[in-house]
Amino acid sequence: MTLARLKSLEDEMKKCFRCSLCKMIPLPVVASPAYSDGCPAARRYHFHGYSGSGKQIMALSLIDGRISADADLAEIVFACTTCGLCDVACKFIMEAERHQVNMALREYLVEQGVAPRAIKERADRLQQYSHLRKRADIRSGDWARDLGLKVLPVDKAGVLLYPDFLASGAGAAAAAGARKTAAILRAAGVDFGILGDQEPDSGLFAYWTGHRELFTRLAENTLGKLNHVGVETVVVTSGATLGLIRSKYPEYAGQARVDVLHVTEYIERLLREGRLTLPRAVNHTVTYHDPCYLGRQSEPPVVWQGEKKVDRGCMTYTSPPRPVNTGANGVYEAPRSILRAIDGLNFKEMWRIREYAFCCGGGGGVPDAFPRLAESAAAHRLAEAADTGADLLVTACDHCLENFNRCGEGSGEKRIPVKNIVDLVYEAMNPDAARSRL
Ligand code: SF4
Ligand code: SF4
Repeated sequence: MTLARLKSLEDEMKKCFRCSLCKMIPLPVVASPAYSDGCPAARRYHFHGYSGSGKQIMALSLIDGRISADADLAEIVFACTTCGLCDVACKFIMEAERHQVNMALREYLVEQGVAPRAIKERADRLQQYSHLRKRADIRSGDWARDLGLKVLPVDKAGVLLYPDFLASGAGAAAAAGARKTAAILRAAGVDFGILGDQEPDSGLFAYWTGHRELFTRLAENTLGKLNHVGVETVVVTSGATLGLIRSKYPEYAGQARVDVLHVTEYIERLLREGRLTLPRAVNHTVTYHDPCYLGRQSEPPVVWQGEKKVDRGCMTYTSPPRPVNTGANGVYEAPRSILRAIDGLNFKEMWRIREYAFCCGGGGGVPDAFPRLAESAAAHRLAEAADTGADLLVTACDHCLENFNRCGEGSGEKRIPVKNIVDLVYEAMNPDAARSRL
C-alpha cells in the first residue's frame, strides 16, 4: 500500500530539477546572509541527499529499482525534522509536493522494517500502549489533578482544553504551560474542561515517523473523542498538535467537526472580546520563533478536482490549475498580536519568520534518533534569536520548548532564555485574576 502511495507521487519527484533552492529560504526574502539556510539537515550534513531534493531523487530511484530500501537509506531519509521548509521553498518557484514525497518515503521504509532503531523502539511502545508516557504510573490527567477542573464527558462544558503532549511523554515545561493555560481560561470566565485520564494521544510521533497505520488508528480515536465529547471548541496547547489536527487528520482520519484552535488563537479571541485583560507590564525585549507545525504545516489541505496532463512527453501540469499549500496561511498573526498586546514588551522579529522560519530541530523523531542534528538546529536558531538583541525567545509549541531546553540556551555569546508565550500572558494578567491553585 505504501509503495502504491509512493508511486502515485512519481510526477512530483520528476519535477525536481536539482536547483537546490529548497536548502535555503527563497532568495527574494533573504534578509541576512548569515540566516539564509532553510534545511536543518542539509545545513548539518552538507550532502545533497539530506535535502528535500535529495529525497525526491532517492524516492524516484527506489520506485525505479535503482536502489533498495535498506538501513543506509533510512539513516538519510529519517535525518530530517519533517519541518516542510523544502516544500514551501520549492513552491516559491514551482507547483510541487515535496512534503508529501518525504512522508510517503518514510512510510514505505517503515513498512520495509528499516526505520532507525530509536524510532522503532518508541513506535513499538506507542503501538503497545497507545501513549508515550515514560512510566506506567504516570496518567495523562496528572498535570491537573489538584486544579479541580471539570472532567468531560461526565461534567459538561463548552470548551475542551487538550494539552496533547502530556499524553505523549510529558515534559515539565509542557505541564507548566497547560496549568497556566487553565488559569488564563479561568480568569477569562471560560466554561471549559479536560479529558483527564481519558485524554488520547494525537498520534504526532506516529505521523512524524511514517507509521501510517498506527497514526491513522490514533488519529481516528482522537477525532472520535473530540467530535463526540459535547463541546463546540477544542483548545490545544501545542503548535504541533494544531498542525496535525488541522492539516494532516483530513487525509488520514477525517475532518474535525468542532472548532479546533491553538491556545494563541483562543487567547487572541478572548483579548479581542474584552474577556481577558493584561494590565501588568512585562519588561522584556522578545523575539518569536514560529513553530513549523503551527505555521507552514497547519494549513488545511487543498481540495481540488481535475486531471493531470502531460505536454511534450515530459512536462506535467494540472487542469484546471491545482492550488497548492504555500504555508502562508498558517497561524502567524495570533501570537504576534498577543505579544503586541502586552505592555512593556519590545518585540523584534528574527530574519527567518512565518512560512520561512528555521526549524528548532525538535520534529520528525529527530531528537530520538539524531540528537546531534536536533542540537545543531536548535543552536543555530537560538543564535539567530540572540542576534536580534532580544533578551528572551518566545515560542508557542511544547516540542520547540522541549528541544530548545534540551539543547541548552545556545552556546558562547549566543545564549538566550526561552519561554512559552502563555508564560508571558500569565505574567501580564491581573494578579487577582491569575490567582489559582498552581
Ligand atoms: S525540490 Fe524544488 S527547490 Fe529543491 S532542487 Fe528540486 S526543484 Fe529545486
Ligand atoms: S523537511 Fe526540513 S529537514 Fe527535512 S529535508 Fe525538508 S527542509 Fe530539510
